[in-house]
Amino acid sequence: MKEAIKKALEEIVGQDAVLVNEPMEKHTTFRVGGPADYFVCPSDTEQVQKVLKFCRESETPYFILGKGSNLLVSDEGFRGVILQIGKNMSRIEREGNRIWAQAGTPLAIFAKEAADGGLTGAEFAAGIPGTLGGAVVMNAGAYGGEMKDILKEVTVVSQEGELIRIPAQKLEMGYRTSIVKKAGYIVLEATAELEPGKEEEIRARMKELADLRVQKQPLDYPSAGSTFKRPEGHFAGKLIMDAGLRGYRVGNAQVSEKHCGFVINLGGATAKDVYQLMQDVGRIVKEKYQIELEPEVKMLGKF
Ligand SMILES: Cc1cc2nc3c(=O)[nH]c(=O)nc-3n(C[C@H](O)[C@H](O)[C@H](O)COP(=O)(O)OP(=O)(O)OC[C@H]3O[C@@H](n4cnc5c(N)ncnc54)[C@H](O)[C@@H]3O)c2cc1C
Repeated sequence: MKEAIKKALEEIVGQDAVLVNEPMEKHTTFRVGGPADYFVCPSDTEQVQKVLKFCRESETPYFILGKGSNLLVSDEGFRGVILQIGKNMSRIEREGNRIWAQAGTPLAIFAKEAADGGLTGAEFAAGIPGTLGGAVVMNAGAYGGEMKDILKEVTVVSQEGELIRIPAQKLEMGYRTSIVKKAGYIVLEATAELEPGKEEEIRARMKELADLRVQKQPLDYPSAGSTFKRPEGHFAGKLIMDAGLRGYRVGNAQVSEKHCGFVINLGGATAKDVYQLMQDVGRIVKEKYQIELEPEVKMLGKF
């Protein structure tokens, strides 16, 4: 059975683009996660559509992966196909004030392209370690900027394989959400519209934000960024700190001492450690402040 599925996937994307029993710790910034049955890296829209069709018809579960920078995969891994929209789909083009890019383009490259063209508006994105696709789904944002401010149009494929172009005003983007997320669409490409600016100022702002990240965030440890969403009127990190949980540890997972909004992997943490720690933090904060912390990190597999 496994061999037959592997063969079918190889026929769609080529032999080099299919891995079997691939450890997900290699593909998540948490450096945590067991094996995926199949790890597939399509290189164009048609391949994505064909893989989806195959999964649908063979009733094989699938999951779309970008750079795995907002993801916790269980220690048992994933029974099905991981479809990575990543470096095989990372073409980028700039024309005038617009940048078009495939969804696998790293946000850092996207922001650099804007700076190279003297375009302002994407500075906030330079330090977010995900793909453009992942950023569209989540309406990623930082330091006062969000994807919704710059997107002009997004091209997605539905789970049924239909190609859809969504103009910005129909993206329904909110705090860490979008129509793409709600409908379970797969992002293939996006166009952003930016404003002309001064290249030195754009680069200076990017450097300023990068320095702030180094200063405030535990970038020397694997993590998935902010573990919890910001509860209305509060900051998750501050609530966690005030609850006395700075440095709280389960196995090798820890509430960062530098920034309590981050759970970090001290080295060799299991998904179970991270999950248990998140549960504990959620429970203790709820007991102390009657505030529910909702995970921002997406979970995949059995917990
Ligand atoms: C150190 C650090 C700092 C961070 N700082 C920020 C920050 O400032 N602001 C912020 O918003 N986030 C931040 N993040 C979180 C993360 O980088 C973003 O959420 C990013 O947008 C996730 O992109 P990804 O490609 O890694 O997605 P993944 O983690 O691979 O996937 C996340 C979700 O998006 C879906 N997805 C991914 N690609 C696609 C696609 N092409 N089509 C459809 N669905 C897709 C996945 O199925 C999954 O549900 C940070 C993370 C780290 C590790």
